[in-house]
Amino acid sequence: MGSGYNCGGSYNCILMELRKETEYLIIHCAATKPSMDIGLTEIRKWHLDRGWRDVGYHYIIRQNGEVELGRRNDDMGAHASGYNHKSIGICLVGGMADDNSAEDNFTDRQWTALLDLVKQIQVEYNDINIIGHNEVSTKECPSFDVQKWKKDNL
Ligand SMILES: [Zn+2]
Repeated sequence: MGSGYNCGGSYNCILMELRKETEYLIIHCAATKPSMDIGLTEIRKWHLDRGWRDVGYHYIIRQNGEVELGRRNDDMGAHASGYNHKSIGICLVGGMADDNSAEDNFTDRQWTALLDLVKQIQVEYNDINIIGHNEVSTKECPSFDVQKWKKDNL
């Protein structure tokens, strides 16, 4: 609060709380079913309804591969308990099957977008440690093995 950071008065700027450390890039899923073609607008509403000051993630990747910008890169997120002060959060829409179980149901366009986005973030934060939410919590999020994905793609 009161950081004095000037970014032109955008929505995020007004609410911004600067993050000092960036040790982790944490990958999440929205835990939504394949029929739910949602994105930033819906997720922001869910989070505001919980009383948060903005959407909790820094990036949302829609089913069509579009990357939507949530909190600014250098703002504190709200996505992984105990890690928000030192991480950036990406959320892939999807990750839940019709029977409510965890399911890797992401689209090819989402995988391409994720790879591009991760590489882009690595340019700015070259030592960033890329992990899945399930590596720092007991949740199944993001419904796939991030370490295997890294080995196969990065
Ligand atoms: Zn998560």
